Amino acid sequence: MPRRDADYSRALARAVHHSTAWLHSLADRPVGPSRTAHDLGAAFGGPLPRQGMPAEEVIDFLARNAEPGLMAMPSGRFFGWVIGGTLPAALASDWLVSAWDQNACFRYATPAAAAIEESAGAWLLELLGLPRESDVGFVTGATMANFTGMAAARWRLLTDAGWDLDRDGLAGAPRIRCYVGRERHDTVDLGLRYLGLGQPTAVAADREGRLIPAALDAALAEGGGPALVCLQAGNVHSGAFDPFPEAIAVARKHGAWVHVDGAFGLWAAAAPGLRHLTSGYGEADSWATDAHKTLNVPYDCGIAIVRDAAALRSAMGLHASYLVHDAEGPGDPFEKVPELSRRARGVPVWAALKSLGGDGVAAQVHGLAAAASDIAAGLAVLDGVEVLNDVGYTQVCVAFGDDHTTRAVTARIIDDGRVWMSGSRWHGRDILRISVSNWQTAGEDVGTAVAAVGSAFAAVRSG
Ligand SMILES: *Cc1c(COP(=O)(O)O)cnc(C)c1O
Repeated sequence: MPRRDADYSRALARAVHHSTAWLHSLADRPVGPSRTAHDLGAAFGGPLPRQGMPAEEVIDFLARNAEPGLMAMPSGRFFGWVIGGTLPAALASDWLVSAWDQNACFRYATPAAAAIEESAGAWLLELLGLPRESDVGFVTGATMANFTGMAAARWRLLTDAGWDLDRDGLAGAPRIRCYVGRERHDTVDLGLRYLGLGQPTAVAADREGRLIPAALDAALAEGGGPALVCLQAGNVHSGAFDPFPEAIAVARKHGAWVHVDGAFGLWAAAAPGLRHLTSGYGEADSWATDAHKTLNVPYDCGIAIVRDAAALRSAMGLHASYLVHDAEGPGDPFEKVPELSRRARGVPVWAALKSLGGDGVAAQVHGLAAAASDIAAGLAVLDGVEVLNDVGYTQVCVAFGDDHTTRAVTARIIDDGRVWMSGSRWHGRDILRISVSNWQTAGEDVGTAVAAVGSAFAAVRSG
């Protein structure tokens, strides 16, 4: 076991060497991996060795054998799913987080981690235009941020209905009616499942996937009792935002808690030219977002924001019931997230915000949206290519005539390796989805993306 400074130094020096080699390779390496997990199994597997290996050799072995199986997700030519890269300050601060090895759950025990995360939280509320009294929790991703916001909702709704959730559990409790737009992200349903709230009612959405407020009104009017409405900032296909002022007014009329899943869309609020997309969303009760997408910090980092701090701390804290005087202070980190022990994952958020500044965040988000609209414009002029969504944020959906052709083009793009884009299905069709989420995506990457799609389509057509 490494116990001496020298052991750390040698292992860390190797990690620096391999990390920088990897980051330098991103400029021109093929984006996709060249080996499958099955192929790589042999190098990493076999019987557990009886004898150990010096730390620096472990790091060399790991880097050498992992390399062919790495996806260039931090590359500016990666457009799959919705995946961010990592800013230099965010990556380097993440290394510090590991070296410091703080268990960031108690404020008094790890004061630096608490102070940094509290500051990051306050900056986020300011940047995103959300109520300053909200609690901010750093979780693993938007899935857990959705879960956390909706757990606070469940506690508040049942408490207000006179039900003691902590003592009596869910069995026999008033049913919480849950409403989502038809095109919500599946992780909202997952969060509701974790919470024992069952399957939500899906409300009609328009062509871009925006929930229709009149349909929400009609659905809510059909029943009574506690209700939870989940809205969306940023549809994974179209990038569209639900109409917050109208939808929140409807929810309020029926006394519902409003949660907003803004895994990548919440960041539009930080960009003056895109802020109109989130207009009115600050009237909701809770918000979920990712820092590992649009902000570009390393995995894993999501953010749960809840205005009703008492509800959040009651749902997540270790106390059976909430202690009033704590609500006025910043509270302990463990009261705001599902975990007790955890890494100080808010530190890379702080470092990203400190390195970019508010103007830098705005420029980054504007840059992603501009690249998406440039890619869409470049593709729209190609004969036989259909851009299917109104490109107003970071997402572009494209089809190439029939499903068979679209699938073939997607496979060729991935094979070609210059860029990586995902296939998906939307409105009953196979599509190619392009998400611009990496801070490094520049004009030349936009050109490469358009050229790669164009040549894949030409090849499929001719052959
Ligand atoms: C990515 C995403 C999620 C899930 O986020 P994770 O970070 O993968 O947990 C939820 N909602 C939306 C809209 C997303 O884009």
